Amino acid sequence: MKLSVVVPMYNEEGIAHKFFERMEGVRSIFHERFGIERDKIEVIFVNDGSTDGTFNILKDLCEKHSGYVLLNLSRNHGHQITITAGIDLSKGDAVAVIDGDLQDPPETIADLYAKHLDGFDVVYAVRKKREGETFFKLLTAKMFYRLLKKLTNVNIPVDTGDFRIMSRRVVNVLMSMKERHRFIRGMISWIGFPQTGLEYERHERFSGETKYTLSKMIKFAFDGITSFSAVPLRLASYLGVFTAFIGFLYALEILRVKIFTDSIYKKVD
Ligand code: UDP
Ligand code: MG
Repeated sequence: MKLSVVVPMYNEEGIAHKFFERMEGVRSIFHERFGIERDKIEVIFVNDGSTDGTFNILKDLCEKHSGYVLLNLSRNHGHQITITAGIDLSKGDAVAVIDGDLQDPPETIADLYAKHLDGFDVVYAVRKKREGETFFKLLTAKMFYRLLKKLTNVNIPVDTGDFRIMSRRVVNVLMSMKERHRFIRGMISWIGFPQTGLEYERHERFSGETKYTLSKMIKFAFDGITSFSAVPLRLASYLGVFTAFIGFLYALEILRVKIFTDSIYKKVD
């Protein structure tokens, strides 16, 4: 297998068909640009416990067409675990990860692949423009990427999601990392090997709403920061030392009151 494409899908019934169509176009592009036949490309859909018709649509597509695999997770495990499961199953020399909502244009995979062939183990897609996102999402994302950059020593690129392509050796290292709270884009930066970015325009969702609820976003940001920065731990240590110090001063004060004054321990008859 030359290329595996991992696609997480959670309640994307309005998009699955369209994604499939676009992916068929990508197969043609790969044939024209790189001479890679369709049976050398596998597309792995990972259904993350969808509660709508996503599973049935994907199952139907995978049964009818060669080169498509469906992995069905036991429940909704979240984006990062979903991607991990797909990558774990992949067999390609290169593995691409792309969102299933068509915000990331599947055709860009060919550009990522071309740059990968130039000798980069990882080519990540950098969001030049983000269409159709709320002001809140744009602001929090911008702040998060910059805060993370300030807090960590690992060179995690800003404005970059998990849309990327990576070599088999990077995938092997990634799969040997067993952390349960996975912040995959950071883990890949940490792994090293030649990595580079490629700018692209992130489009509006083809249909439906974001599946990253506020609580999922907070958990994700928390995982990113706690996995890649010692600052929260250090803050906890400083806070501990500070509290202990205040406690010590207070103990001295109690001793002073007990020994030198009789004010608070005076017996009331
Ligand atoms: N997704 C998933 N599990 C989840 C949430 C999202 O597999 O619990 C998938 C979703 O179907 C999509 C991708 O992860 O393909 C990115 O999610 P989404 O588009 O909702 O996030 P956003 O682009 O708004 O950050
Ligand atoms: Mg999206």
